[in-house]
Amino acid sequence: MESKPRLNFVDRRLIRQCIHCGLCLPTCPTYQVLGSELDSPRGRIYQMKALADGRISPDDENLRRHIDLCLDCRACETACPSGVNYGQLLEHTRELIRPGRNSKNSKTETVARELVLNRTFTSGPLLDAAGLALRTYQKTGLQRVIRQTGLLKRVSPRLGELEQMLPEMQGGVGRSSVPRFVRARGKRRYRVAFLSGCVAAQIFGGTNQATVRVLVANGCDVITPDGQGCCGALHVHTGDRKTARDLARRNIAVFEEAGADYSIVNAAGCGSTLKEYGLLLADEPEWAERAGEFSGRVRDVTEFLASIDLVPPTGELHKRVTYQDACHLAHGQRIREQPRQLLRQIPGLELVEMAGSDTCCGSAGIYNVVNHDVSMQILERKIESVLATKADILAAANPGCIIQLMHGLRKRGVAMEVAHPIDLLDRAYHLT
Ligand code: SF4
Ligand code: SF4
Repeated sequence: MESKPRLNFVDRRLIRQCIHCGLCLPTCPTYQVLGSELDSPRGRIYQMKALADGRISPDDENLRRHIDLCLDCRACETACPSGVNYGQLLEHTRELIRPGRNSKNSKTETVARELVLNRTFTSGPLLDAAGLALRTYQKTGLQRVIRQTGLLKRVSPRLGELEQMLPEMQGGVGRSSVPRFVRARGKRRYRVAFLSGCVAAQIFGGTNQATVRVLVANGCDVITPDGQGCCGALHVHTGDRKTARDLARRNIAVFEEAGADYSIVNAAGCGSTLKEYGLLLADEPEWAERAGEFSGRVRDVTEFLASIDLVPPTGELHKRVTYQDACHLAHGQRIREQPRQLLRQIPGLELVEMAGSDTCCGSAGIYNVVNHDVSMQILERKIESVLATKADILAAANPGCIIQLMHGLRKRGVAMEVAHPIDLLDRAYHLT
Protein backbone atom coordinates (compact mmCIF):
# COMPACT_ATOMS: atom_id res chain seq x y z
CA MET A 1 0.00 0.00 0.00
CA GLU A 2 1.28 3.52 -0.85
CA SER A 3 2.37 5.22 2.36
CA LYS A 4 0.92 8.60 3.28
CA PRO A 5 3.33 11.31 2.08
CA ARG A 6 4.91 13.34 4.84
CA LEU A 7 7.97 15.43 5.51
CA ASN A 8 9.79 12.67 7.33
CA PHE A 9 12.47 12.70 9.97
CA VAL A 10 15.25 13.06 7.40
CA ASP A 11 13.49 16.03 5.78
CA ARG A 12 13.03 17.74 9.13
CA ARG A 13 16.72 17.21 9.84
CA LEU A 14 17.56 18.72 6.44
CA ILE A 15 15.39 21.72 7.21
CA ARG A 16 17.23 22.20 10.50
CA GLN A 17 20.52 22.00 8.61
CA CYS A 18 19.73 25.33 6.94
CA ILE A 19 21.56 28.03 8.90
CA HIS A 20 19.80 30.85 7.00
CA CYS A 21 23.11 32.25 5.77
CA GLY A 22 21.66 33.29 2.41
CA LEU A 23 24.73 32.21 0.40
CA CYS A 24 22.42 30.34 -1.95
CA LEU A 25 20.35 33.40 -2.85
CA PRO A 26 22.57 34.93 -5.57
CA THR A 27 22.77 31.57 -7.39
CA CYS A 28 19.01 31.04 -7.48
CA PRO A 29 17.53 31.89 -10.93
CA THR A 30 14.03 32.56 -9.59
CA TYR A 31 15.41 34.91 -6.92
CA GLN A 32 17.46 36.62 -9.63
CA VAL A 33 14.43 37.40 -11.79
CA LEU A 34 11.67 37.75 -9.16
CA GLY A 35 13.73 39.34 -6.36
CA SER A 36 11.51 37.93 -3.62
CA GLU A 37 12.76 36.05 -0.56
CA LEU A 38 9.78 33.68 -0.87
CA ASP A 39 11.08 32.67 -4.29
CA SER A 40 14.58 31.97 -2.98
CA PRO A 41 15.91 28.69 -1.54
CA ARG A 42 16.03 30.09 2.00
CA GLY A 43 12.50 31.47 1.70
CA ARG A 44 11.20 28.18 0.37
CA ILE A 45 12.86 26.29 3.22
CA TYR A 46 11.12 28.64 5.69
CA GLN A 47 7.82 27.72 4.03
CA MET A 48 8.66 24.00 4.16
CA LYS A 49 9.38 24.37 7.88
CA ALA A 50 6.03 26.08 8.38
CA LEU A 51 4.41 23.19 6.51
CA ALA A 52 6.25 20.59 8.61
CA ASP A 53 5.22 22.43 11.82
CA GLY A 54 1.59 22.58 10.67
CA ARG A 55 1.61 26.40 10.47
CA ILE A 56 0.72 26.32 6.74
CA SER A 57 -1.74 23.97 5.18
CA PRO A 58 -0.69 21.88 2.14
CA ASP A 59 -3.71 23.54 0.43
CA ASP A 60 -2.28 27.03 0.83
CA GLU A 61 -2.24 28.58 -2.64
CA ASN A 62 0.66 30.94 -1.87
CA LEU A 63 2.79 28.07 -0.65
CA ARG A 64 1.96 26.11 -3.77
CA ARG A 65 2.83 29.03 -6.05
CA HIS A 66 6.27 29.60 -4.51
CA ILE A 67 7.07 25.88 -4.49
CA ASP A 68 5.82 25.51 -8.10
CA LEU A 69 8.02 28.41 -9.19
CA CYS A 70 11.16 26.55 -8.10
CA LEU A 71 13.05 25.08 -11.06
CA ASP A 72 14.50 22.20 -9.02
CA CYS A 73 17.80 23.20 -10.62
CA ARG A 74 19.68 22.54 -7.36
CA ALA A 75 22.11 25.43 -7.83
CA CYS A 76 21.39 26.20 -4.18
CA GLU A 77 22.79 22.79 -3.18
CA THR A 78 26.10 23.59 -4.84
CA ALA A 79 26.25 26.97 -3.08
CA CYS A 80 25.17 25.69 0.35
CA PRO A 81 27.99 25.45 2.94
CA SER A 82 25.73 23.45 5.24
CA GLY A 83 25.01 20.53 2.90
CA VAL A 84 21.23 21.00 2.67
CA ASN A 85 19.83 18.45 0.21
CA TYR A 86 17.34 20.92 -1.21
CA GLY A 87 16.30 18.70 -4.14
CA GLN A 88 15.09 15.98 -1.82
CA LEU A 89 13.22 18.49 0.35
CA LEU A 90 11.55 20.06 -2.66
CA GLU A 91 10.47 16.78 -4.19
CA HIS A 92 9.00 15.53 -0.92
CA THR A 93 7.21 18.85 -0.40
CA ARG A 94 5.77 18.66 -3.90
CA GLU A 95 4.51 15.18 -3.15
CA LEU A 96 2.56 16.64 -0.22
CA ILE A 97 1.05 19.54 -2.12
CA ARG A 98 0.77 18.12 -5.63
CA PRO A 99 -2.39 18.80 -7.67
CA GLY A 100 -5.03 16.15 -7.40
CA ARG A 101 -4.37 15.77 -3.71
CA ASN A 102 -5.20 19.16 -2.24
CA SER A 103 -5.43 21.80 -4.95
CA LYS A 104 -8.68 23.69 -5.51
CA ASN A 105 -8.27 23.65 -9.28
CA SER A 106 -7.12 20.06 -9.25
CA LYS A 107 -9.50 18.86 -11.95
CA THR A 108 -7.83 20.46 -14.98
CA GLU A 109 -4.35 19.84 -13.66
CA THR A 110 -5.15 16.25 -12.80
CA VAL A 111 -6.46 15.63 -16.32
CA ALA A 112 -3.35 17.26 -17.88
CA ARG A 113 -1.05 15.27 -15.62
CA GLU A 114 -2.96 12.08 -16.32
CA LEU A 115 -2.87 12.59 -20.10
CA VAL A 116 0.69 13.81 -20.53
CA LEU A 117 2.79 12.43 -17.69
CA ASN A 118 0.91 9.31 -16.66
CA ARG A 119 -0.44 8.13 -20.01
CA THR A 120 1.79 9.38 -22.82
CA PHE A 121 5.20 9.37 -21.09
CA THR A 122 4.65 5.95 -19.63
CA SER A 123 3.38 4.29 -22.80
CA GLY A 124 5.71 3.36 -25.66
CA PRO A 125 2.92 3.18 -28.32
CA LEU A 126 1.41 6.53 -27.28
CA LEU A 127 4.83 8.19 -27.31
CA ASP A 128 5.51 6.73 -30.76
CA ALA A 129 2.15 8.04 -32.00
CA ALA A 130 2.79 11.52 -30.58
CA GLY A 131 6.32 11.54 -32.05
CA LEU A 132 5.04 10.46 -35.47
CA ALA A 133 2.35 13.15 -35.43
CA LEU A 134 4.88 15.86 -34.58
CA ARG A 135 7.43 14.72 -37.15
CA THR A 136 4.71 14.55 -39.81
CA TYR A 137 3.59 18.06 -38.86
CA GLN A 138 7.14 19.33 -39.21
CA LYS A 139 8.55 17.35 -42.12
CA THR A 140 5.59 17.70 -44.50
CA GLY A 141 5.72 21.52 -44.39
CA LEU A 142 2.50 21.89 -42.41
CA GLN A 143 4.39 23.63 -39.62
CA ARG A 144 5.80 26.20 -42.07
CA VAL A 145 2.31 27.01 -43.34
CA ILE A 146 0.89 27.30 -39.81
CA ARG A 147 3.74 29.59 -38.76
CA GLN A 148 3.57 31.76 -41.90
CA THR A 149 -0.18 32.26 -41.64
CA GLY A 150 -0.07 32.77 -37.86
CA LEU A 151 -3.19 30.60 -37.70
CA LEU A 152 -2.48 29.01 -34.34
CA LYS A 153 -1.62 32.37 -32.73
CA ARG A 154 -4.97 33.74 -33.90
CA VAL A 155 -6.84 30.77 -32.42
CA SER A 156 -4.88 30.94 -29.15
CA PRO A 157 -1.84 33.18 -28.52
CA ARG A 158 -0.74 30.82 -25.73
CA LEU A 159 -0.87 27.78 -28.03
CA GLY A 160 0.93 29.76 -30.74
CA GLU A 161 3.74 30.62 -28.30
CA LEU A 162 4.06 27.00 -27.17
CA GLU A 163 4.17 25.83 -30.79
CA GLN A 164 7.12 28.14 -31.37
CA MET A 165 9.02 26.12 -28.76
CA LEU A 166 8.87 22.90 -30.78
CA PRO A 167 12.43 21.92 -31.62
CA GLU A 168 13.62 20.72 -35.02
CA MET A 169 13.09 16.97 -34.78
CA GLN A 170 16.09 14.99 -35.98
CA GLY A 171 15.72 12.63 -38.96
CA GLY A 172 12.71 12.20 -41.25
CA VAL A 173 9.07 11.34 -40.61
CA GLY A 174 10.15 7.92 -39.36
CA ARG A 175 11.89 7.79 -35.98
CA SER A 176 15.70 7.46 -35.96
CA SER A 177 16.06 4.56 -33.56
CA VAL A 178 19.08 2.61 -32.35
CA PRO A 179 19.58 -1.15 -32.86
CA ARG A 180 19.02 -3.47 -29.93
CA PHE A 181 22.66 -4.59 -30.03
CA VAL A 182 25.80 -3.22 -31.67
CA ARG A 183 29.15 -4.98 -31.35
CA ALA A 184 32.28 -3.10 -30.24
CA ARG A 185 34.68 -1.95 -32.90
CA GLY A 186 37.95 -3.82 -32.40
CA LYS A 187 38.66 -5.51 -29.09
CA ARG A 188 35.75 -5.36 -26.65
CA ARG A 189 36.56 -3.35 -23.53
CA TYR A 190 33.11 -2.96 -21.96
CA ARG A 191 29.54 -4.15 -22.28
CA VAL A 192 27.21 -1.21 -21.70
CA ALA A 193 23.43 -0.83 -21.68
CA PHE A 194 22.04 2.37 -23.16
CA LEU A 195 18.98 4.23 -21.89
CA SER A 196 17.55 5.74 -25.06
CA GLY A 197 14.97 7.91 -23.27
CA CYS A 198 11.29 8.53 -23.90
CA VAL A 199 10.68 11.99 -25.38
CA ALA A 200 14.36 12.38 -26.29
CA ALA A 201 14.20 9.20 -28.39
CA GLN A 202 11.40 10.80 -30.42
CA ILE A 203 13.13 14.16 -30.93
CA PHE A 204 16.84 13.44 -30.72
CA GLY A 205 17.10 10.00 -32.36
CA GLY A 206 20.18 11.22 -34.25
CA THR A 207 21.99 12.07 -30.99
CA ASN A 208 21.12 8.62 -29.66
CA GLN A 209 22.63 7.07 -32.78
CA ALA A 210 25.74 9.25 -32.36
CA THR A 211 26.03 8.11 -28.74
CA VAL A 212 25.98 4.46 -29.75
CA ARG A 213 28.56 5.08 -32.54
CA VAL A 214 30.94 6.83 -30.13
CA LEU A 215 30.61 4.05 -27.54
CA VAL A 216 31.17 1.39 -30.19
CA ALA A 217 34.24 3.27 -31.48
CA ASN A 218 35.55 3.11 -27.91
CA GLY A 219 35.35 -0.65 -27.63
CA CYS A 220 31.87 -1.04 -26.14
CA ASP A 221 29.31 -3.68 -26.96
CA VAL A 222 26.14 -1.58 -26.72
CA ILE A 223 22.82 -3.11 -25.85
CA THR A 224 19.68 -0.93 -25.89
CA PRO A 225 17.26 -3.11 -23.94
CA ASP A 226 13.69 -3.61 -25.10
CA GLY A 227 11.08 -2.84 -22.48
CA GLN A 228 12.89 0.14 -20.96
CA GLY A 229 10.80 3.27 -20.48
CA CYS A 230 10.63 6.76 -19.10
CA CYS A 231 13.04 7.16 -16.14
CA GLY A 232 10.43 9.01 -14.07
CA ALA A 233 12.42 12.27 -13.72
CA LEU A 234 9.44 14.49 -14.52
CA HIS A 235 7.27 12.52 -12.12
CA VAL A 236 9.80 12.88 -9.31
CA HIS A 237 10.18 16.60 -9.97
CA THR A 238 6.44 17.19 -9.95
CA GLY A 239 5.90 15.18 -6.77
CA ASP A 240 4.42 12.03 -8.29
CA ARG A 241 6.83 9.63 -6.64
CA LYS A 242 4.40 6.73 -6.87
CA THR A 243 4.50 6.69 -10.69
CA ALA A 244 8.26 7.31 -10.57
CA ARG A 245 8.68 4.23 -8.37
CA ASP A 246 6.62 2.11 -10.79
CA LEU A 247 8.84 3.27 -13.67
CA ALA A 248 12.01 2.69 -11.64
CA ARG A 249 11.11 -0.92 -10.84
CA ARG A 250 10.47 -1.65 -14.51
CA ASN A 251 13.76 -0.10 -15.65
CA ILE A 252 15.79 -1.84 -12.95
CA ALA A 253 14.42 -5.25 -13.98
CA VAL A 254 15.05 -4.58 -17.67
CA PHE A 255 18.61 -3.32 -17.18
CA GLU A 256 19.50 -6.16 -14.80
CA GLU A 257 18.55 -8.55 -17.57
CA ALA A 258 21.02 -6.81 -19.91
CA GLY A 259 23.91 -7.85 -17.65
CA ALA A 260 26.06 -4.83 -18.54
CA ASP A 261 29.09 -3.32 -16.78
CA TYR A 262 27.49 0.15 -16.91
CA SER A 263 24.18 1.75 -17.80
CA ILE A 264 24.85 4.76 -20.00
CA VAL A 265 22.60 7.79 -20.39
CA ASN A 266 23.04 10.93 -22.51
CA ALA A 267 20.37 13.07 -20.81
CA ALA A 268 21.43 14.86 -17.60
CA GLY A 269 17.95 14.92 -16.07
CA CYS A 270 17.41 11.20 -16.63
CA GLY A 271 20.88 10.29 -15.36
CA SER A 272 20.36 12.23 -12.16
CA THR A 273 17.09 10.38 -11.50
CA LEU A 274 18.54 6.96 -12.38
CA LYS A 275 21.35 7.59 -9.91
CA GLU A 276 18.73 8.30 -7.24
CA TYR A 277 16.65 5.13 -7.75
CA GLY A 278 18.35 3.82 -4.61
CA LEU A 279 16.83 6.70 -2.62
CA LEU A 280 13.48 6.48 -4.41
CA LEU A 281 13.02 2.81 -3.49
CA ALA A 282 14.84 2.92 -0.15
CA ASP A 283 11.66 2.05 1.78
CA GLU A 284 10.86 -1.05 -0.31
CA PRO A 285 12.82 -3.96 1.19
CA GLU A 286 12.55 -6.15 -1.89
CA TRP A 287 13.83 -3.37 -4.19
CA ALA A 288 16.15 -1.18 -2.10
CA GLU A 289 19.30 -3.24 -2.64
CA ARG A 290 18.63 -3.84 -6.33
CA ALA A 291 17.94 -0.12 -6.84
CA GLY A 292 21.18 0.86 -5.08
CA GLU A 293 23.11 -1.64 -7.19
CA PHE A 294 21.48 -0.34 -10.38
CA SER A 295 22.17 3.32 -9.50
CA GLY A 296 25.80 2.50 -8.80
CA ARG A 297 26.27 1.37 -12.41
CA VAL A 298 24.72 4.45 -14.05
CA ARG A 299 27.08 6.80 -15.89
CA ASP A 300 26.43 9.89 -17.91
CA VAL A 301 28.01 9.25 -21.32
CA THR A 302 30.47 12.15 -20.86
CA GLU A 303 31.39 10.87 -17.39
CA PHE A 304 31.99 7.38 -18.77
CA LEU A 305 34.06 8.47 -21.77
CA ALA A 306 36.18 10.81 -19.68
CA SER A 307 36.95 7.95 -17.30
CA ILE A 308 38.29 5.56 -19.95
CA ASP A 309 41.23 5.73 -22.30
CA LEU A 310 39.35 7.61 -25.05
CA VAL A 311 40.13 6.76 -28.66
CA PRO A 312 41.39 10.18 -29.81
CA PRO A 313 39.23 11.86 -32.43
CA THR A 314 41.29 12.85 -35.48
CA GLY A 315 38.84 14.90 -37.56
CA GLU A 316 39.28 18.63 -37.13
CA LEU A 317 36.35 20.80 -36.12
CA HIS A 318 37.38 24.43 -36.45
CA LYS A 319 34.59 25.92 -34.39
CA ARG A 320 34.28 28.17 -31.36
CA VAL A 321 32.13 26.28 -28.87
CA THR A 322 30.61 27.35 -25.57
CA TYR A 323 29.22 24.85 -23.08
CA GLN A 324 26.07 25.18 -20.96
CA ASP A 325 26.16 23.08 -17.79
CA ALA A 326 22.87 21.21 -17.49
CA CYS A 327 21.68 21.65 -13.90
CA HIS A 328 21.26 17.95 -13.35
CA LEU A 329 24.81 17.30 -14.49
CA ALA A 330 26.57 20.18 -12.70
CA HIS A 331 24.46 20.39 -9.54
CA GLY A 332 22.66 17.03 -9.55
CA GLN A 333 25.65 14.83 -10.43
CA ARG A 334 28.63 17.17 -9.89
CA ILE A 335 29.79 16.54 -13.46
CA ARG A 336 31.40 19.69 -14.85
CA GLU A 337 34.86 18.93 -16.14
CA GLN A 338 34.19 15.71 -18.08
CA PRO A 339 32.13 17.20 -20.97
CA ARG A 340 34.65 20.05 -21.28
CA GLN A 341 37.51 17.53 -21.29
CA LEU A 342 35.90 15.66 -24.21
CA LEU A 343 35.29 18.85 -26.16
CA ARG A 344 38.91 19.96 -25.67
CA GLN A 345 40.07 16.65 -27.15
CA ILE A 346 38.48 17.52 -30.51
CA PRO A 347 41.22 18.89 -32.78
CA GLY A 348 40.59 22.46 -33.90
CA LEU A 349 37.76 23.11 -31.45
CA GLU A 350 38.10 26.23 -29.31
CA LEU A 351 36.18 26.04 -26.03
CA VAL A 352 35.08 29.41 -24.64
CA GLU A 353 33.38 29.78 -21.27
CA MET A 354 30.20 31.80 -20.89
CA ALA A 355 29.37 33.78 -17.76
CA GLY A 356 27.10 31.78 -15.45
CA SER A 357 27.35 28.57 -17.48
CA ASP A 358 25.91 26.62 -14.53
CA THR A 359 22.84 28.83 -14.13
CA CYS A 360 19.62 27.18 -15.27
CA CYS A 361 18.33 28.07 -18.76
CA GLY A 362 14.71 27.94 -17.53
CA SER A 363 13.80 24.66 -19.20
CA ALA A 364 13.45 22.44 -16.10
CA GLY A 365 11.24 19.64 -17.42
CA ILE A 366 7.79 21.12 -18.08
CA TYR A 367 8.58 24.36 -16.20
CA ASN A 368 8.87 26.31 -19.49
CA VAL A 369 5.28 25.28 -20.27
CA VAL A 370 3.63 25.67 -16.86
CA ASN A 371 5.64 28.72 -15.73
CA HIS A 372 6.22 30.10 -19.19
CA ASP A 373 6.74 33.81 -18.41
CA VAL A 374 9.32 33.28 -15.66
CA SER A 375 11.04 30.64 -17.77
CA MET A 376 11.37 33.10 -20.67
CA GLN A 377 12.87 35.77 -18.39
CA ILE A 378 15.48 33.28 -17.20
CA LEU A 379 16.13 32.18 -20.79
CA GLU A 380 16.61 35.76 -21.95
CA ARG A 381 19.45 36.26 -19.45
CA LYS A 382 21.03 32.98 -20.53
CA ILE A 383 20.94 33.92 -24.22
CA GLU A 384 22.72 37.21 -23.41
CA SER A 385 25.56 35.20 -21.84
CA VAL A 386 25.68 32.83 -24.81
CA LEU A 387 25.82 35.62 -27.39
CA ALA A 388 28.58 37.41 -25.49
CA THR A 389 30.89 34.45 -26.17
CA LYS A 390 30.54 34.89 -29.97
CA ALA A 391 30.54 31.09 -30.24
CA ASP A 392 29.58 29.19 -33.40
CA ILE A 393 28.10 26.28 -31.47
CA LEU A 394 26.38 26.02 -28.10
CA ALA A 395 26.87 22.59 -26.50
CA ALA A 396 24.56 21.18 -23.81
CA ALA A 397 24.19 17.64 -22.53
CA ASN A 398 20.48 17.49 -21.85
CA PRO A 399 17.55 17.37 -24.31
CA GLY A 400 15.38 19.81 -22.33
CA CYS A 401 18.18 22.42 -22.27
CA ILE A 402 18.83 21.93 -25.99
CA ILE A 403 15.15 22.53 -26.81
CA GLN A 404 15.00 25.62 -24.59
CA LEU A 405 18.25 27.12 -25.88
CA MET A 406 17.24 26.52 -29.50
CA HIS A 407 14.01 28.38 -28.78
CA GLY A 408 15.83 31.29 -27.13
CA LEU A 409 18.22 31.69 -30.05
CA ARG A 410 15.42 31.40 -32.64
CA LYS A 411 13.45 34.10 -30.82
CA ARG A 412 16.46 36.41 -31.13
CA GLY A 413 16.86 35.50 -34.82
CA VAL A 414 20.31 33.96 -34.18
CA ALA A 415 21.26 30.95 -36.31
CA MET A 416 23.67 29.38 -33.81
CA GLU A 417 23.87 25.60 -33.76
CA VAL A 418 22.93 23.87 -30.48
CA ALA A 419 24.33 20.38 -30.08
CA HIS A 420 25.04 17.68 -27.54
CA PRO A 421 28.81 17.32 -26.86
CA ILE A 422 28.51 13.72 -28.05
CA ASP A 423 27.26 14.94 -31.46
CA LEU A 424 30.44 17.00 -31.81
CA LEU A 425 32.65 14.12 -30.73
CA ASP A 426 30.88 11.81 -33.18
CA ARG A 427 31.40 14.39 -35.91
CA ALA A 428 35.12 14.54 -35.14
CA TYR A 429 35.36 10.75 -35.37
CA HIS A 430 33.82 10.81 -38.82
CA LEU A 431 35.49 13.91 -40.26
CA THR A 432 38.41 13.09 -42.54
S1 SF4 B 1 16.42 24.58 -6.94
FE1 SF4 B 1 17.06 26.33 -8.24
S2 SF4 B 1 15.21 27.59 -8.45
FE2 SF4 B 1 14.84 26.18 -6.74
S3 SF4 B 1 15.45 27.32 -4.91
FE3 SF4 B 1 17.27 26.13 -5.55
S4 SF4 B 1 18.43 27.51 -6.90
FE4 SF4 B 1 16.34 28.38 -6.68
S1 SF4 C 1 23.08 28.32 1.59
FE1 SF4 C 1 22.24 26.49 2.63
S2 SF4 C 1 22.29 27.03 4.79
FE2 SF4 C 1 22.51 28.97 3.68
S3 SF4 C 1 20.39 29.75 3.46
FE3 SF4 C 1 20.83 28.55 1.61
S4 SF4 C 1 20.07 26.48 2.07
FE4 SF4 C 1 20.24 27.57 4.04
